[in-house]
Amino acid sequence: METTERWHYWLPVPERTGFKWHRHAFRGRNWDGRSADTSVCGRPCAMAKPSELDWFQAPTCPDCTETLLAELSGAESSEGEQ
Ligand SMILES: [Zn+2]
Repeated sequence: METTERWHYWLPVPERTGFKWHRHAFRGRNWDGRSADTSVCGRPCAMAKPSELDWFQAPTCPDCTETLLAELSGAESSEGEQ
């Protein structure tokens, strides 16, 4: 019985240009204020506290979504519910 934490959270982060934002998924329960991390889709991202507008405007990263969905379906089929 492993209790490996497989949490993730979403955070809008700016692209390198700083003009475009995307909502990427990151490992962990929630953002702890760090200034950079690697997203689930493998991109090094600079992190900053997003405004409500950032949340609203940033499109969700499709690569992160696919990765997380694949992990979820894999975990369900191998372990299952009680
Ligand atoms: Zn991503």
